[in-house]
Amino acid sequence: MPELPEVETERGRLAARLEGRRIGSARIDDVRLTRPEDPALVAARLAGERVAGVERRGKYLVIRLDQGDVLVVHLRMTGSFRYEPASHERAVLELDDGTRIAYRDLRRFGTWALLDPDEVDEYLRIRLGPEPLGRAFTVPFLARRLEGRRAPIKAAILDQRTVAGLGNIYADEALWHARIHPLRAAGELRPDQIAALRTGIRSALRRGIRRQGADLGDGTYAGGRMQHEFRVYGRTGEGCDRCGTPIEKTRAGGRGTWYCPGCQL
Ligand SMILES: [Zn+2]
Repeated sequence: MPELPEVETERGRLAARLEGRRIGSARIDDVRLTRPEDPALVAARLAGERVAGVERRGKYLVIRLDQGDVLVVHLRMTGSFRYEPASHERAVLELDDGTRIAYRDLRRFGTWALLDPDEVDEYLRIRLGPEPLGRAFTVPFLARRLEGRRAPIKAAILDQRTVAGLGNIYADEALWHARIHPLRAAGELRPDQIAALRTGIRSALRRGIRRQGADLGDGTYAGGRMQHEFRVYGRTGEGCDRCGTPIEKTRAGGRGTWYCPGCQL
């Protein structure tokens, strides 16, 4: 499942091809992608539009069109953009310079929402907390979000309204960096642990972006190298890079969760 680093990698590749170009034609073949809107109507609105910019907010791609409309794409589990013909294509954009961009999605949980300019901010605001690499993601903000919560800290940081963009992998990695046990109650963290958590989240994500995300072997995010550098994720029984204790797997917030029982307290 793509998280912030994988989506940021997709954003960069997409922006290089889309920004400044006009969409010559658009085809959307999957009613699930745009529902409740009719995919043919969404495709008709995209055709002829020039792309002003491709941005990212949390795990959303935000494609701004010259006329003001904004296409908000969530890749969910298996969505990706492809620049060569691929299996499981759900939509295709042909650009004015001949570039063909396909949207591929094996599991079909991805979404395309074409929003009016005045809808976009609210759409994202109700779903997302601050960008973890931005200035609004402060220790006081994080402390307020965690205060009094009995949920495990792992579940708390997977809540996109606490911090936008974390998923199962980078949440585990962030907690390792911060030396915090994933099952610790969110509201019990000391101020120094909250500060370490903020730093850990930012470190894990920055590392992921630099490695162009993680390719977990299904080829969806091919080219990512972060999978070679996981500290805990998927490493049951291997020695912790910090203290040598074997990594263990548990469940937190209904998700498979890896941690070091030696140095995450
Ligand atoms: Zn350890």
